[in-house]
Amino acid sequence: MPSRKPDPAPFPLPPNATIGIIGGGQLGRMSALAAARLGLRCHILTPEADSPAGQVSAGTTHGDYDDPVALHRFAESVDVVTFEFENVSAEGLDLLASLRPVRPAPAILRISQDRAAEKTFLNRAGAATAPWRPVGSVAELKAAVAELGLPAVLKTTRLGYDGKGQAVLRAPEDFAPAFEELHPKPLILEGFIDFSHEVSVIVARGADGTASCFDTVENRHRDQILDLTLAPARIAPEVAAAAQGTARRVAEALDLVGLLAVEMFVAADGRVLVNEIAPRPHNSGHWTIDACPVSQFEMHIRAVAGLPLPPATRHADAVMKNLVGPEEAALWPAILATPGLCAHLYGKREARPGRKMGHVTHLFPKGALPGDEGVALALGPVPMSRGG
Ligand code: AMP
Repeated sequence: MPSRKPDPAPFPLPPNATIGIIGGGQLGRMSALAAARLGLRCHILTPEADSPAGQVSAGTTHGDYDDPVALHRFAESVDVVTFEFENVSAEGLDLLASLRPVRPAPAILRISQDRAAEKTFLNRAGAATAPWRPVGSVAELKAAVAELGLPAVLKTTRLGYDGKGQAVLRAPEDFAPAFEELHPKPLILEGFIDFSHEVSVIVARGADGTASCFDTVENRHRDQILDLTLAPARIAPEVAAAAQGTARRVAEALDLVGLLAVEMFVAADGRVLVNEIAPRPHNSGHWTIDACPVSQFEMHIRAVAGLPLPPATRHADAVMKNLVGPEEAALWPAILATPGLCAHLYGKREARPGRKMGHVTHLFPKGALPGDEGVALALGPVPMSRGG
């Protein structure tokens, strides 16, 4: 099918305009709920029959992300296109970009889809990362270990998420099995960071360069899946400010129009090192729905629709706990019966192990985020993992 230049977008989008979202998961669902509040519609592209995002949107195009027929049908139903996950084909996005404005731009997605491209970009933009080397063979792996030392982390460059596609190398006998096991190749080797905290910052940026940056938050993982977010991060104010500065700088360097999540390590010496970026709403920003006048999802929709971006202010401290897998999904009745828990369920029919089914947020007065004991108490029936 012939492609044409997109029509000049009618930015800012007027009420009742339609935002196309690629992907049908919970991030699309919560973006669509935010859009509805602003009088905007969402239309989802997903192969899934009954998707979390589709359930709350004006329409869905069912099809694969690289099916040109589905992409054309999707484009015809929407005024602007965005995405809620990164493993969408950049070629598909290019096709869409020939039909409708795509925000963030496909070039940004390409960078975030490939760890080597991402780290190259970040380092050029002046954002520090763990030291890293590209690795295409076991010989290159050995050479990289000689430079970076052990332990080190071997990672796929593509299609890795939630800790999938990586291995920690501690001794020479780990090299060959880890190299064989991880795919697709090529890989990268990263120096192991002895971090005190994992933090993230979410920043929205408009076409006019206005940026709104949420506070730095602290993230805890369990089985390499985000478990808990504490807002604000319990770190020194100057470190939190440095993390925000890094996020703003990266958004600027990308010439982002949309939303960007920047995940960072705070090293034992206080340096902030970027681990990865995601040009979309992020799990570590779910607390903003309940603790901020304008959530990350509304910021996403506003940026994509060309609407004004207010400052990313926060009226409360917050803890967000993911509900993962069948065990935590089964806590739902107890959660609903617990005062003070803001409860969110994503409409997924099947609770598989490791699957994010929903989340809860508990708010505290600003400045009153308690220590771990207090957080565990506030989460009531939901067990809190400690550290790690
Ligand atoms: P990733 O898939 O890059 O998000 O990594 C998943 C988790 O592995 C991170 O949240 C960290 O806890 C850990 N990790 C990743 N890279 C490193 C590193 N270079 N040094 C230490 N821990 C790491």
